[in-house]
Amino acid sequence: MSHVFPRQIKSPPPVAVTGQGCYLVDAAGKRYFDGSGGAAVSCLGHGDPEIVAAVQAQVEKLAFAHTGFFTSEPAEALADLLISKAPGSLDWVYFVSGGSEATEAAMKLARQYHVERGEPQRRHIIARRQSYHGNTLGALAAGGNQWRRAQFEPMLADMRHVAACYEYAEKRPGESSYDYGQRAAQELEDEILALGPDTVIAFMAEPVVGATLGAVPAVEGYFKRIREICDTYGVLLILDEVMCGMGRTGHLFACEAEGVAPDILCIAKGLGAGYQPIGAMLCTGEIYGTIAGGSGFFQHGHTYIGHPTACAAGLAVVNAILDRDLLSNVKTQGDALAAALSERFGQHPHIGDIRGRGLFRGLEIVEDRETKRPFDRKAGIAPKLKKAAFEAGLICYPMQGTRDGQSGDHVLLAPPFIIGPEHVDEITGKLATALAQVLPS
Ligand code: PLP
Repeated sequence: MSHVFPRQIKSPPPVAVTGQGCYLVDAAGKRYFDGSGGAAVSCLGHGDPEIVAAVQAQVEKLAFAHTGFFTSEPAEALADLLISKAPGSLDWVYFVSGGSEATEAAMKLARQYHVERGEPQRRHIIARRQSYHGNTLGALAAGGNQWRRAQFEPMLADMRHVAACYEYAEKRPGESSYDYGQRAAQELEDEILALGPDTVIAFMAEPVVGATLGAVPAVEGYFKRIREICDTYGVLLILDEVMCGMGRTGHLFACEAEGVAPDILCIAKGLGAGYQPIGAMLCTGEIYGTIAGGSGFFQHGHTYIGHPTACAAGLAVVNAILDRDLLSNVKTQGDALAAALSERFGQHPHIGDIRGRGLFRGLEIVEDRETKRPFDRKAGIAPKLKKAAFEAGLICYPMQGTRDGQSGDHVLLAPPFIIGPEHVDEITGKLATALAQVLPS
């Protein structure tokens, strides 16, 4: 009998024993194609010898040194590499152990920045409905997904939520994509004005919404307008690229596609590619300089921030993405995957939308394609699809609550950057098998 507390107590998972390339193998010898990298983590696939060697070498040399006393060679090298590629004036890197730690640190840094520059009255964070920023209490409070928040609501800090940029469901008939994006962005300005512009700390958003919407990029012009609004009112822009960053969309940083740069940027998942738990928060020289010239101390920290072994893995992963030119493959195979999904499911009566960028693709499942009406939550489409796909040997990431935190279903695909055309066929084929089992014909 297991003593490991599983995610799904009523259906405990099989034991994963080994992984090679795009596949994971369980204790019974069954192979699964890792079509979502777990949750957009395993961007290099499994068992990559270079990353394994980098981790082994670091453990032998220096596994850990507490950042209260030391920095380390891998942390310095990884920070230099990230900053050499980072957009805008991002100039400093604060390493953490995962996505929720990155978004928590971002919100605290944003608050401390305003305090140190003499605006302690700034106390509000604004985020978006249907977003996910992590599961710790601060990150959960920022997230706008009703289902994830519901039972913890009494414990959550007061954070405000404005519209997501979710064209498929929220663009009005006759409205252009551009106009829709401007209308969605306007909700931010309205909220800032309602709260009082000098009370707002930051606005936080995912450039491509992952877990809660299923690979939804913003329409053109939306993030440019968001950046303008933030600048007008001295509100910091925090971009959460925990899921969509580190090459997943075909850009090392997802916001490159929008032509905007944030004040604070969060990454995780693909940074360590699953070889080590690592995340990071990048901030501008202006934010860092304000604190350096003030208290000289960011009042934050965890035991494992800047963990040398995790940083060595991150360094090897980012170098692999760049040196092997994997971003080109993300674009090529991403286009191939998009085309294959459209060909196979473009006319499917229950697939309402196929979307995403690079190797970050989502399919929204609807009961009625014409009206875009979602299935009733009780139909349990997403959990059934996850099970059917897993049985068919495909790991993918279906989720319920797409529309409003309750109704709606989507499936997210985020395969490793190393896939070839044969894997595109495998993903679409296995997904078709699973969908056929779950959806009414
Ligand atoms: N932010 C985004 C956009 C995410 O997708 C996630 C995880 O899915 C997180 C934050 C939280 O990351 P973690 O699960 O590593 O704490």
